[in-house]
Amino acid sequence: MSKQVRNWSGLQRFTPQHFEEPATTGQVVKAVNAARARSQRIRVRGNLHSFSEIVRTEETLISVAAMSGVIDADRSSGLVRVRAGTSIYNLSRALDALGLAIPNLGDIDVQSIAGAAATGTHGTGLHYGNISAQVMAAQIVTAAGDVVEIDESDSNALKAARVSLGTLGVVTELTLQCVPAFRLDRLDLPRPIGETLSQIDDLSAGFDHFEFYVLPYSDLSLQKRIDRSDAPAKPLPPMKKFFSDVVIENIAFGATVKAGKLVPRAIPPIAKGLAKAFSPERRLDKSFDAFSTVRMVRFNELEYAIPREHLAEAVERVMAMIQEHGYPVNFPIEVRVGRADEESFLSTAAGRETGYISVHMAKGMDYEPYFHAVETIMDGYEGRPHWGKMNWQTADKLAPRYPGWSDFQTVRASMDPQGVFSNDYTNRVLGPVVAVPHT
Ligand SMILES: Cc1cc2nc3c(=O)[nH]c(=O)nc-3n(C[C@H](O)[C@H](O)[C@H](O)COP(=O)(O)OP(=O)(O)OC[C@H]3O[C@@H](n4cnc5c(N)ncnc54)[C@H](O)[C@@H]3O)c2cc1C
Repeated sequence: MSKQVRNWSGLQRFTPQHFEEPATTGQVVKAVNAARARSQRIRVRGNLHSFSEIVRTEETLISVAAMSGVIDADRSSGLVRVRAGTSIYNLSRALDALGLAIPNLGDIDVQSIAGAAATGTHGTGLHYGNISAQVMAAQIVTAAGDVVEIDESDSNALKAARVSLGTLGVVTELTLQCVPAFRLDRLDLPRPIGETLSQIDDLSAGFDHFEFYVLPYSDLSLQKRIDRSDAPAKPLPPMKKFFSDVVIENIAFGATVKAGKLVPRAIPPIAKGLAKAFSPERRLDKSFDAFSTVRMVRFNELEYAIPREHLAEAVERVMAMIQEHGYPVNFPIEVRVGRADEESFLSTAAGRETGYISVHMAKGMDYEPYFHAVETIMDGYEGRPHWGKMNWQTADKLAPRYPGWSDFQTVRASMDPQGVFSNDYTNRVLGPVVAVPHT
C-alpha cells in the first residue's frame, strides 16, 4: 500500500494501490507491464501542480521524477532532448548554460516539462504558443509496454501527444525546439480597469507578452507589459526583489487573503486598500526569471480559454457577476492571450487566437458557486477549460469546441485501446476510449 498523494492546493487527495518511480525507460516498461498483469489502470504524475482530478487514481501511479536532465542538445538548431521528469526550473537553467531558452513560459516553473505540456500549460503573448508547441518528438511507453518514438513523420500522433492529458502512455523523453537565450524587459503598471479593457487589443498586440490582473471590488488593473530584449539583464537588487516578490506578492498578500477568509464582508474594503498599494516597477531579467513568480499563498483555480475578441466583454461579465452575487473573492483575476495553436488537437488555443481568464479562491474557501458561475459565462463563448484546472465539463459539451477532437480520439484509441491510461476525470472530459473500426 502506498502513501496518500496530495496536489499542490491540497484539494485532491488519493491513495494509489501501487506507486512506481522508475529511473529508466526500461523500468517504465516493467512498471507498465506489471500494472497490466494486475489488471490495473495507470496514471502518470508530474509535480502534482494540477488543480483538477486529472492525476487521481486508486490503482497504479507512476512518477518519472527520477528521470530528469538534458540528454542531448544541438545549439545551432535549438533542438534539445530532455527526460520527461525534468522540472522547468532545472530545464531553464540547463538551457541557459547552453545559450538557449524556451520561448514562452507560465507564471511558475516548478512543473515537470512532460506534465506542463500534457495540459497545454501556457504563458501569455499574442505571437507565442504554449509550452507543448515546442515539442518536436516524444518517446512514449504505451499500454502494451512498447517504446515508441513519435515525431513529424506521423503528424497526427504528434498533435495528439503534445497535449495528451497523460492518456496515450508514459512520456519518458521529449525533444524541444528551443530559441537563443533572451531577456525580458518588464514593466508592472497599475491602471484603471476601464482603460485596460478599452485598450486590450492594442496592448495585446503592442507587447510581446502582455497580461493583466484585475482585483474584484476595486477599480484597479495591474498590467504587465513585457518585451523581449537583447540588452544585458538588469535585475532588481536582491533585497528589493525579495521585498517585491516575496514580502508584497506573498506575505502581505497572504495576510489580506487570511483577513478576507476570516471576515468575508471586509473583502471589498481590503481590495480597495490593496489596489492603492501597487506602484509601477521595471526590471530586465533573464527570460525564465521574468516569466516565473513565487506562489506561497495556496489557492484553487479555474481557467478558461475563449476566442480573444470576447476577452474584454467576458472579464466585465465576470466582474459584474462577482458584485451581483457578493462572492467573497479576494484573489485577482488573471488575463492573458495566446496565438492560435495548430500544433495540438487538444490545446486550449487550438485553431483560434485565444484570451485566457483565470479565477482563484483561497485554499479552504468555498470555490464552487463562484467557479460554476464563471464556467457558465465561459460556456457562452465556447470556452475551453485548462485541463489541469477545476472544471465540470463533459466530453459531449467539449467535443464541438475542438476542431481536432475526433483526430485525437483516433490516436488515443490506437495507442491505448483498453483505456489503461484513463481515470474518472479523463472519462468525463474526453469520454471513454472508443474502439476505431478496422477498415
Ligand atoms: C501555483 C500554480 C501556478 C500555475 N500557473 C500556470 C500558468 O501560468 N499557466 C498554465 O497554463 N498553467 C498553470 N498552472 C497549471 C499547471 O501548469 C498544470 O496543471 C501542469 O500540468 C502541472 O504540471 P505538473 O508537472 O505538476 O503535472 P501534474 O499536475 O502532476 O500532471 C498533469 C498532467 O500531466 C500528465 N503527465 C505528467 N507527467 C507525464 C508523463 N511523464 N507522461 C505522461 N503524462 C504525464 C499527468 O498524467 C496529468 O495528466 C499552475 C498551477 C499552479 C499550482
